[in-house]
Amino acid sequence: MFLHIAVPRPLEDTFIYRCPPELEGQVSVGKRVIIPFGRQRVTGYIIDTSSVLPPNLSHKIGKKEIKSIDSILDAVSLMDETILSLCRWASEYYLFPLGMALKTALSGIPEEKELKAPKKRHDVLEIFKEEPGRISKVPASLTAHQEAALLKIRGSIEKGDFGVYLLHGITGSGKTEVYMCAIEEVAKKGKGGIVLVPEIAITPQLIKRFVARFEERVAVLHSGLSHGERIAEWIKIREGRVDVVIGVRAAVFAPVQNLGLVVIDEEHEHSYKQEDGFRYNARDLAIMRAKLSKATVILGSATPSLESYYNTQTGKYLCLTLPERINKRPLPPVRIVDLRKKEGFSIITAELLDALKARVSNGEQSLLFLNRRGFSPFLLCLDCGHSPECPNCSVSLTYHKKDNALCCHYCDYKITPPDACPQCKGSRFKAFGAGTERVEEELKRLIPDARIVRMDRDTTARKHSHHHIFRSMENREADILIGTQMVTKGLDLPEITLVGVLLADSTLHLPDFRSAERTFQFLTQVSGRSGRGDKTGEVIVQTFSPDHYSIRHASMHDFTGFYEAETCFRKALGYPPYKRLVRVLIKGNSKESVQSSSVKFREILDSNKKSGIDILGPVPAPFSKMRGKYRWHILLKGGETRPLNSLIRRALHLFACDEAHKGVQVEVDVDPLSLL
Ligand code: ADP
Ligand code: ZN
Repeated sequence: MFLHIAVPRPLEDTFIYRCPPELEGQVSVGKRVIIPFGRQRVTGYIIDTSSVLPPNLSHKIGKKEIKSIDSILDAVSLMDETILSLCRWASEYYLFPLGMALKTALSGIPEEKELKAPKKRHDVLEIFKEEPGRISKVPASLTAHQEAALLKIRGSIEKGDFGVYLLHGITGSGKTEVYMCAIEEVAKKGKGGIVLVPEIAITPQLIKRFVARFEERVAVLHSGLSHGERIAEWIKIREGRVDVVIGVRAAVFAPVQNLGLVVIDEEHEHSYKQEDGFRYNARDLAIMRAKLSKATVILGSATPSLESYYNTQTGKYLCLTLPERINKRPLPPVRIVDLRKKEGFSIITAELLDALKARVSNGEQSLLFLNRRGFSPFLLCLDCGHSPECPNCSVSLTYHKKDNALCCHYCDYKITPPDACPQCKGSRFKAFGAGTERVEEELKRLIPDARIVRMDRDTTARKHSHHHIFRSMENREADILIGTQMVTKGLDLPEITLVGVLLADSTLHLPDFRSAERTFQFLTQVSGRSGRGDKTGEVIVQTFSPDHYSIRHASMHDFTGFYEAETCFRKALGYPPYKRLVRVLIKGNSKESVQSSSVKFREILDSNKKSGIDILGPVPAPFSKMRGKYRWHILLKGGETRPLNSLIRRALHLFACDEAHKGVQVEVDVDPLSLL
């Protein structure tokens, strides 16, 4: 018997090994094996078996004897045919080696001879359980819009056919209820569902509602699980003991048998995209997995990505809308505060301060958003203009007051702020701009009797710290929550009547064609946290660009208006959804070799290119140095994936054959979400 093995190495090929007769009984696709590989022993994955050598592969073996595997690691297969097919597809599509893709898909499953449930009892749901009555369980009735959406989804589930539904529901319109009803439908048919969420820690309320509804029939998968917890959840899913798996992007590979439904909540979120190694987008893989399993897909969002909305316009997806908030509560009016007209800049304007004070004295809650943690984004010498930068990354160091440190937010670099300017020896260093730490300090001074909590990466380093911060808001032990993007989504707190966006411009001027879309999305999402209860809400947006179309449309809650303006721009410049993009990132320790290799890569692309493909660059990436590596990039645009991918595959091959490029790494990002 011969086994086709994928090895988790940066190699395009898969390999053939012999299976010793005594192991033949244990062989099945999807198990791991230990094999001799070069001079090492490595773990590989069985992807196929055959009794004869496939003729098209025999040339690869040459005169060398075909080696035998050493042993088989698993008693049960770790993935079914669908997940294997999904990984094969993803390996082709994302130009990433199959063995490494499989390794990512199965990461977290330990290398043990037999997977056994850990002896210690694990209850990952504990933290999501609520006292009875705290969460209203099943609403008395669905709204007419919820009913209408569910009717379509139910039809698709009944048929057992692949179909993608974009549930475009404004904030507070009851999307989660639709997800839960749809899961109930698939559970009735004896099938399972997967619900993908952008981040577990910031979506506790959605998970709590699922746990309250489905109780023990829920599994949760995320990166914060301990080893034992992960195995326990994995086994529970594999054995079909749950109706629904809730998890972050890697849960797209969860071993759900008989998949009936996949929900991708906040489908526009960038956290579905893995930004290193296997750069897959879990939303797109989820759709592919559903297609392979003949399952239904619900993409939910108040601010759908341009790509997904475009697919509803072309008829590829079906759009279902929830245009109203529950109980017909109005969306909060948005007041724009024009920072250009202010004398002397203050991060908390008089308008915002008055609104905050009014809320505090009324016993209502407020949410403030600023997309930047730390005390101030940079220090500046008032004598010579010097600003300390990270030696490893091309960014300035952020000042953290409590820790008295200058920190890089991209690598681990951290120093004590110098007493004198390293350049001119002057002593007049000033902290410029504001981060969440500074806003908290300012607010404590301006409204001394307000109870203020802050949520950002600095205050949530410890396990469950998010939970405690949410709790203090839920229990009304805090008046004001200030935070980074962590606070912009998922929160359903009825007492929040004021949302303040401190600087809407912070995401607007990034050198990335999606910056307008991202700004529109976060403004709409954060606005959606206001006025969800009985009291009317309000939103205050402080900005230097009050006329920008993304800010204008967001302030009018006008998704279609924004969509139309943005698609014009995308169409004119040939960006997604009208064109496909692939980014080639070239990195290395030497500035010169990164540059020369990038130029060479472009030459290879040019000499192999077909019509219909545009190539931009090479140029230094906006972050031209990261973690000590210099970075250049090339952008490819094309109408279709296949010719783009085959061009890059060929270029990668030719490039790798040239010894001159040994010191540089090439990373390919298909459908990139970030061009920084
Ligand atoms: P979204 O996810 O669209 O922002 P949610 O699912 O969080 O909205 O719903 C907003 C609130 O309305 C939640 O507190 C939810 O429990 C409640 N809700 C949802 N559907 C109904 C319904 N049919 N009747 C009454 N309340 C509902
Ligand atoms: Zn750094």
